Amino acid sequence: MSGRLTVVGIGPGNEAWITPAAAAAIAAAQDVYGYGPYVERLPARPGQVRHATDNREEISRAKAALAAAAAGRTVAMVSGGDPGVFAMAAAVCEVVEAGPPEWRALDIAIEPGVTAMLAAASRVGAPLGADFAAISLSDNLKPWALIERRLRLTSEADMALALYNPASQARGGGAARAFGVLKECRAAVTPVVLASAVGRPDESIAIRHLGDCDGVGVDMRTLIIIGSSATRIVARPGRTPLVYTERFARDS
Ligand code: SAH
Repeated sequence: MSGRLTVVGIGPGNEAWITPAAAAAIAAAQDVYGYGPYVERLPARPGQVRHATDNREEISRAKAALAAAAAGRTVAMVSGGDPGVFAMAAAVCEVVEAGPPEWRALDIAIEPGVTAMLAAASRVGAPLGADFAAISLSDNLKPWALIERRLRLTSEADMALALYNPASQARGGGAARAFGVLKECRAAVTPVVLASAVGRPDESIAIRHLGDCDGVGVDMRTLIIIGSSATRIVARPGRTPLVYTERFARDS
């Protein structure tokens, strides 16, 4: 009896962005674990058991999925976007590290998915076409002071930024605070992309300048891209502008 746990990325919300390998891992599973709305979106399969859980129950969800795999079940754990980006794959690794020794012997696989920043970038051009960093603005797992330090240091390094979880912060909006910090360290004309619900029917994409950004219109389904000094907005007649980051850079 040998079970298996596959942590599966299902992309940002568009069926066409689920890889064939991810779809196959879900189809092969006897048990599917994951955040309720993700699990409920999957087509029902006879004999497959679904375990929809709350968004905040990552550790208990990971433990339950590992226990099922240890009992010989073929288990898929679905995760939005890529499971390795601010998501379930790290929670599973944490639980394996802290858990019973026999969990280390389990067959564990990760199926990658299209992460939100790549989906968002693809909608406007190539804002992440040169060096960039990704930062989660959620202060559930780290202090705000560390987030602020990383915003400042990546600005000093003149890197483009992808900002995840802009609205999960308990005290005030993470996006509003982040824009306040970034305005101190980047030019007001820096291009900003606000990409919400990318790949879903209510997708919206806005291109702005940093000086005009205050967090209004940003919610938990928004991915924010902040340009570097090499990021440009290319106007086009009758079409939405292209936003891209030049690949050539000089030492500053
Ligand atoms: N593992 C996911 C990220 C989880 S963190 C991934 O790889 O994409 C959750 C954050 O991801 C959200 O707050 C938002 O910032 C971003 N996000 C997820 N899906 C999105 C979508 N369809 N459009 C825009 N941003 C999205």
